[in-house]
Amino acid sequence: MDFVTISGVVLCHSCPVRYYLETRREFEQERIEYTIAKQISYHLGRDLCNDEIWDEIRLINPNISEEDYPLFENWLEKCRDCSWPVSIESDVEIRSNKLGVIGRIDNLFESEPNIGIIRAGCAPEKGIYKSDRIRCALVSICAAETLKIKGEEILLQYIPDGVTKVCKPSPADRRTAIRALSYAKKIDRGYIPEKKNTERCNTCYLKDYCLTKPKKISDLI
Ligand code: SF4
Repeated sequence: MDFVTISGVVLCHSCPVRYYLETRREFEQERIEYTIAKQISYHLGRDLCNDEIWDEIRLINPNISEEDYPLFENWLEKCRDCSWPVSIESDVEIRSNKLGVIGRIDNLFESEPNIGIIRAGCAPEKGIYKSDRIRCALVSICAAETLKIKGEEILLQYIPDGVTKVCKPSPADRRTAIRALSYAKKIDRGYIPEKKNTERCNTCYLKDYCLTKPKKISDLI
């Protein structure tokens, strides 16, 4: 069976054309914000030593320069103000053979909520982003199958503002996730989604590559 990644499903839900273009990208550099958030997350609940974490970040992503230090420092300071559970394991692979979806848990905790997912963006003021709810729905399904963890509640760890939120995916979130997954599989089988101009297109990072009929990004750059 061909598997779709959890991130791919979330992307397909936000815009099927984005999913189409991204899955055909040959090489993607890790986003600076992601590297910084990810590396901070390994230290949460422990001593947050600026120099130690910054050195690791520079080793992991050579595209990060001293210019990015203020961003890192700002996020780390915000994380100091929050109380974080200490993970017992990081980067745990999960999958659902039933659905054909694969992904990774950022943090595994001893007590509930047992699963932590880090986000490299700010938390919404109220509620939880739909995209995070879909991500959590799939994580919950995969964790139940792979780790035999119920995973009904998932801790979202928003590193840039040092905030956590607990997400309990609803049946509607699970339905939406499964629908987006089957659309992603259809695209993987060769279907080309049509571009629909929406407000989101104005700020989309792929707008320069997104034509009426999508082409491979590698053909365009
Ligand atoms: S420009 Fe619009 S249609 Fe194209 S990938 Fe971005 S959001 Fe999707």
